[in-house]
Amino acid sequence: MIPCGARSVETIYQVIKERLKKPFKLMDGQEVTMTVTVGVAEYPEAAVGTLELINSAEIVMFKAKSRGKDTIQYFDGAILEEFLQTVTIQTKLKEVVFEQNFTMHFQPQYYTEDERLRGVEALIRWKDNKGDMISPAVFIPIAERNGTIVPIGNWVIEKSVQTYAEWRNKYHYPLILSLNVSAVQCKQKDFIDIFLQILRKYDVSPKEIEIEVTETILIEDFEHISRRLDNLRKIGARISLDDFGTGFSSLSYLKGLPIDTLKIDKTFVDTLITDINTKIITESIICMVKRLGYETVAEGVETEEQFQYLKELGCDIIQGYYLGRPMPAGEIENLLADLTAKV
Ligand code: C2E
Ligand code: CA
Ligand code: CA
Repeated sequence: MIPCGARSVETIYQVIKERLKKPFKLMDGQEVTMTVTVGVAEYPEAAVGTLELINSAEIVMFKAKSRGKDTIQYFDGAILEEFLQTVTIQTKLKEVVFEQNFTMHFQPQYYTEDERLRGVEALIRWKDNKGDMISPAVFIPIAERNGTIVPIGNWVIEKSVQTYAEWRNKYHYPLILSLNVSAVQCKQKDFIDIFLQILRKYDVSPKEIEIEVTETILIEDFEHISRRLDNLRKIGARISLDDFGTGFSSLSYLKGLPIDTLKIDKTFVDTLITDINTKIITESIICMVKRLGYETVAEGVETEEQFQYLKELGCDIIQGYYLGRPMPAGEIENLLADLTAKV
């Protein structure tokens, strides 16, 4: 007899799974194996109406699929909330007027050795029509899923390069402009053409630009992306591997990678002082990366103590609230004006 409630669902799920475990043959002899992903929404916790209940189960099932197929996922309020937030952001993204709602902020990066300004990382900011800020950590993954990241990413490049060119023409300070580029954008056939077109428009050389890609973008499509990065390097751009330590966790892929810089993720910096294991791992990463010939950047450095410790470990570049938060272009301009006035 099948028990009632959640346990009965679990039993049914196990029965279906068991039945589908064996591969079966199609007419042409090809073997196929099926997986089962189940989303469970129960009355009345998830919803009271039939349609709402079915919709909730579907939302939960899609969540289960995104977490890796062949699994069962039960409804919880957080899943529904995340779904509603995604829908709201998708709707708002459709209404966005780039020049009106988006701006670029820039966060300085400094050489650890002498605290000289090395460059700036361009970070997008979005203020919706009600005046609320929406974090890029929230909307960029949604824009990646629905494709809007391509026009947004192109706008980011154009706006940032234009601003950079103005600074350079006015202050002649040797600055590197770091641009975050998402996998979807990087994989576009015409990505390099568009990138070069924008650079030409503002008379900026690829040598002045660093492209930041995250570790996870490599996991998804290693061959394709590394070829693209290699081509970007051939035209002179620098490549930086962002959020290092959060994704691949395999060090062997590092040796053949077309990169110049590696950014140690903030999660390492956060516990560097308090956790001995993090200390050991960070020290080893810096040592290994330097021997491979790449520059190291530590991001999310918030305290003097973290800064000094990373300096001792030989980390080349520091980025974080301790030395400078992301700021509007005008504030970077003030910084450059001060720096060049001193020369
Ligand atoms: P990210 O590329 O890892 O950028 C660093 C994030 O850490 C930024 O968050 C920055 O404001 C924050 N940060 C820097 N220093 C500190 C610190 O000392 N303490 C703390 N708590 N935070 C610090 P932000 O601007 O919210 O961006 C979040 C993420 O959104 C970025 O992470 C990046 O992955 C993505 N993103 C931002 N702008 C763009 C863009 O123009 N294009 C693309 N594709 N992604 C972007
Ligand atoms: Ca970045
Ligand atoms: Ca990062």
